[in-house]
Amino acid sequence: MRVLTNVSLQELTTFRLGGVARFFCSVTSLEELRDALAYARTRGLPFFILGKGSNVLFSDDGFDGLVIRINIRGRHYEEDSKGDARVTAGAGELWDDLVAETVSQGLWGMENLSAIPGTVGAVPVQNVGAYGVEVRDLIDWVEVLDTKENTLHIFSVADCEFGYRESIFKRPEGQQYIVTRVAFRLSTYPIPKLSYRDLAAYFENTDTGRLTPKEVSDAVRTIRNRKLPDVTEVGTAGSFFKNPVVPEQVYKELTRWFEYLPAHPHGEGMYKLSAAYLLEQFGWKGRRGEHVGCWDTQPLCLVHYGDGSTSELIAFANTIIEDVKERTTIILEPEVRCIDVELRSV
Ligand SMILES: Cc1cc2nc3c(=O)[nH]c(=O)nc-3n(C[C@H](O)[C@H](O)[C@H](O)COP(=O)(O)OP(=O)(O)OC[C@H]3O[C@@H](n4cnc5c(N)ncnc54)[C@H](O)[C@@H]3O)c2cc1C
Repeated sequence: MRVLTNVSLQELTTFRLGGVARFFCSVTSLEELRDALAYARTRGLPFFILGKGSNVLFSDDGFDGLVIRINIRGRHYEEDSKGDARVTAGAGELWDDLVAETVSQGLWGMENLSAIPGTVGAVPVQNVGAYGVEVRDLIDWVEVLDTKENTLHIFSVADCEFGYRESIFKRPEGQQYIVTRVAFRLSTYPIPKLSYRDLAAYFENTDTGRLTPKEVSDAVRTIRNRKLPDVTEVGTAGSFFKNPVVPEQVYKELTRWFEYLPAHPHGEGMYKLSAAYLLEQFGWKGRRGEHVGCWDTQPLCLVHYGDGSTSELIAFANTIIEDVKERTTIILEPEVRCIDVELRSV
């Protein structure tokens, strides 16, 4: 394990923003991870666990501690007699490589979560979701290193306390756990989930009974390519804000002004509203600041066009939060992990 100093966080994150990490290392095994933690502990440094940096925003002042990139690899497949398959992958595996491999083997489960950047270890952190599927539906167990006790544990789905873009790993009580491996349950039997509007439209004239997981995955990739920016061309971390979850009364009130506001029941009389729809109604789609803006085809996706700063992006995001609050009373919350950065909603 080699520790580097003053490494640019712009190079380590898809937003391409932030100052420098005072110390940085990449770990390829559990032993190296333990060494890295010992390095931080003996020097009294805070540490930050990083995957591919596709869901984080660091401040312009950088991170005054050790950034540890998880690069623990390894994939293992098992099949049971009922036709279910279990795939176990190291936290540093690329999520989309795993998706591509499973769908090309004819395994059902991950296809709707195609083309999401980042690592396997990060998917439980915010219970990654897209096109009507959340990763909690697929997870069998999560292996974690408890950094306080220096012990390995297996977390069940219940232990992970998953919610909408939420898990124990995002909360203060979960900060001591680092994900080292994840096991997923997949199926050899067809279980296409095509109810999400864009997917249903894509397959409108198709005999969906004969689809393969690869075909569904390809459809998701095509739809995403139309909507989302290419991370190799612009800086972004995908959806910057979560979709707001509000009581039914608030939702009903809003439909007086926005008749077609998309909403999904979210349990216990709550509704999850489309933040993208609201931002589009309020004129944010495609709106630009100097170096940052809302993406032309998906306003929830904040982008950095280059030469900008985290403070500029945060000022832009705060203007959006204020605008939505003024018009709807809803306070948007960030989906992206903002490190040492103050947003109005938090
Ligand atoms: C273009 C684009 C589209 C996206 N689309 C979606 C989408 O459809 N759905 C969705 O849910 N997300 C989406 N995202 C967000 C992002 O891709 C996911 O959240 C992804 O899982 C982040 O992976 P990462 O390895 O880059 O994590 P990072 O950004 O490096 O880290 C994210 C958080 O997870 C923590 N973390 C990372 N690895 C570990 C680990 N091994 N153990 C413990 N904590 C860890 C970090 O400390 C940090 O808090 C999108 C992002 C982009 C740029």
